[in-house]
Amino acid sequence: MRIVVLGAGVIGVTTAQALDAAGHNVVVVERQSGAAEETSFANGGQISAAHTTPWAAPHMPFQAFKWMFQTDAPLLIKPFRLDPALWRWGLRFLANCTSERETQNFEKALRVAKYSRAVLQSLRQRHALQYNQTSGGILYIYRDQAAALKGKDMAAKLADFGLPQTILDRDGLFAEEPALTRSQEPLFGGVLSPDDETGDAHSFTLALQKISKKSRVTFQFGTTVKALITRNGEITGIATDQGTIKADAYVVCLASNTPRLLKPLGLDVPIYPAKGYSMTAAIHSGSAAPSRSITDEGKFVVITRIGNSLRAAGTAELAGWDRSLNPKRLAPIIQATQSLFPDAADYNQIEPWCGLRPATPDSVPIIGGTPYANLFLNTGHGTLGWTMACGSAQALADLMSGRTPEIDLDGLGLERFNS
Ligand SMILES: Cc1cc2nc3c(=O)[nH]c(=O)nc-3n(C[C@H](O)[C@H](O)[C@H](O)COP(=O)(O)OP(=O)(O)OC[C@H]3O[C@@H](n4cnc5c(N)ncnc54)[C@H](O)[C@@H]3O)c2cc1C
Repeated sequence: MRIVVLGAGVIGVTTAQALDAAGHNVVVVERQSGAAEETSFANGGQISAAHTTPWAAPHMPFQAFKWMFQTDAPLLIKPFRLDPALWRWGLRFLANCTSERETQNFEKALRVAKYSRAVLQSLRQRHALQYNQTSGGILYIYRDQAAALKGKDMAAKLADFGLPQTILDRDGLFAEEPALTRSQEPLFGGVLSPDDETGDAHSFTLALQKISKKSRVTFQFGTTVKALITRNGEITGIATDQGTIKADAYVVCLASNTPRLLKPLGLDVPIYPAKGYSMTAAIHSGSAAPSRSITDEGKFVVITRIGNSLRAAGTAELAGWDRSLNPKRLAPIIQATQSLFPDAADYNQIEPWCGLRPATPDSVPIIGGTPYANLFLNTGHGTLGWTMACGSAQALADLMSGRTPEIDLDGLGLERFNS
């Protein structure tokens, strides 16, 4: 089958590779001049099944309201914007803020994330992929007893879902990560999520693109998709600024741009951009930088060593599709990193970046078919697209190839928002 994949972020490229491996003839269409130039460019680098707790939770409406009045809040929602897409998304988000939905959504996201890690490991065995990967686990840190207790509860929940965690007191935390002894802030303890991994999503995507290109996948960069053309309940082509492209089937991997392109087809896809920021700095002193990725639960920041660089990422701002970089939103990330690892890097010489996380109201990606027989979606991976990429791609490729996916796709498709 000839298949067009729309978008060459980490999701589009993994999808193309999985479809190619299943024997299809794949063309990837991307508006940028290369792969992973948008949200997959400089993310937090964590491949973290343990981090799949959905944003929508019973405490969140009250918490988000408090954050509305705080410019450096980790999650900033601007509800007074005249943006009906944000209001509609917000109402669906609120509907997911029950403990029952929270547990269901957690299970769904975890299902994809755990599977994805296994698919990534198997890909690594088959191909020489270099992306500054580490597999020593991810360390959650807590500043006080109350936070540590919450971390302990979460660890117990994750263990129930088959992800055993190690609880650490202060000495245990410093033994696992000696660079934390230089922290300027007091630390109480931590949790080690031993099976999580890290790596650079951008390098990974480029490495996989190279492999796919050597195979049969064609990449058509610098090509913007303008519309999907339909007839009799099927897609007959995509209109681009470089002409029409036709195929037997189409997969949309357009992240936050998905709703705009699918709206004219009568498809309501609830994805809203959640802008996040990162900084990358060259490591000056190896022993002063963390060897393991850190999740700072108090500051909502993740810090990952990527080769000889330190990457820190965080914040989420629900304020539309604007991709401009606001230094005030980045500053708390730099401060948090500097206070934990003061001598690791020169924090005046950082590479700033921001990207739009494609967030769904339930923090679960959208993987599966649509009412159009030959149109498929692999999109809306929010905060964890790198974590979920390989598994989402494999499951969709199996579905499209008439094979039973290795994970149950029930509850992951677009239909969940209309039932
Ligand atoms: C600050 C930050 C930190 C993060 N940290 C982590 C982390 O530690 N771990 C993790 O798992 N995830 C993390 N994420 C989330 C992760 O980066 C995303 O979920 C993931 O990159 C989404 O991949 P994607 O391929 O769907 O989107 P993208 O990479 O944005 O790809 C979509 C592609 O579609 C193209 N496109 C859009 N419209 C068109 C059009 N009309 N025509 C042609 N092409 C088009 C775009 O150019 C883009 O290349 C983080 C995100 C942010 C912002």
